[in-house]
Amino acid sequence: MFPLSCGFILLLLLFSSPCFFARTIPLYHDAKLTATKNYTYKWQNFEKFLEASRGSRVNEMFELKKYFHHFGYLKMEEDMNFTDLFDAKFELALNKYQAKLGLPITGKLDYKTISQIMSPRCGVKDVPKKTLHVTRHYEFFTGQPRWARTVPITLTYSFSLANLITSLSLQDIRDAFKRAFGHWEAVIPLTFLETYDYGSADIKIGFYSGEHGDDEAFDGVLGVLAHAFSPESGRFHLDAAETWAVDFQVQKSDVAIDLESVATHEIGHLLGLAHSSVKEAAMYPSLKPREKKVDLTIDDIRGIQTLYGSNPNFTIQDLLESDISSNDAVDLRISSLSIWFVLLQVLITSLCH
Ligand SMILES: [Zn+2]
Ligand SMILES: [Zn+2]
Repeated sequence: MFPLSCGFILLLLLFSSPCFFARTIPLYHDAKLTATKNYTYKWQNFEKFLEASRGSRVNEMFELKKYFHHFGYLKMEEDMNFTDLFDAKFELALNKYQAKLGLPITGKLDYKTISQIMSPRCGVKDVPKKTLHVTRHYEFFTGQPRWARTVPITLTYSFSLANLITSLSLQDIRDAFKRAFGHWEAVIPLTFLETYDYGSADIKIGFYSGEHGDDEAFDGVLGVLAHAFSPESGRFHLDAAETWAVDFQVQKSDVAIDLESVATHEIGHLLGLAHSSVKEAAMYPSLKPREKKVDLTIDDIRGIQTLYGSNPNFTIQDLLESDISSNDAVDLRISSLSIWFVLLQVLITSLCH
């Protein structure tokens, strides 16, 4: 009994973490909620809702309800107004949010939950789980849209030269996007090609501020970082107000956001993936300042291969090698252990389907 039960417990502890040994993500403001010293940023004032629970009434809680409404957890009240009362409907929405974001389901605005709510994130709505206690994994958009072309698929992308940022060179931006597209190309039979013909490109990329014509206004520093639309829209918008970075050694800002990480995430949406509940996944909705998260996890790969099939050159071993090569410190003994964990995870996930 020992190997099976203990293996299962270990597996649960390491669930969905092929990068567990390979990378320690530098978390930015984990020590306290408001760590940015010189900036005010979106959702910063949500800190005041800490410890609120059912029955609480906190000034401006309607703003938090609007946040939950925006991201898909709370329906608008019939009179189109939210109150400041933490009521049963809000508790239910909070439970769904906690389940979706992989948080303990407490129904309260505890520290972890408030910290997560305040974290910068993607503007695309989450798809809440239908039941609270289900295996966490990837999601698709309603109707499971994908690019309906014959395999192997080629999609073109182009940058809007009228909507760029000046803090990074166009070459740096192009390189970051090329790497981001490459992560997805490696696992599915699909190729991305840059084109200078913006008008005819399948994927149109630009940096925008505030309102920009799609009713999804950007909100300044942090808050929403970017959004992209499901297939076959191809629209990919980034918030021009962010301090976009391609190298944290060069860009020292406390609120710097890694461009390749956000690009990798948004490309997942362009291809048809919605948000995942797996914290390590590229498709998890939030990304902290100065956090770099560019590798696809098994959760992302399983999701995207369900839509497009596998790149014939892709093997699980590729994933492990990319994990190992990205961390010189990883020791081979641990690497071989992680191979077993990954294989076990694949097996258990298959059994759950
Ligand atoms: Zn997203
Ligand atoms: Zn937009």
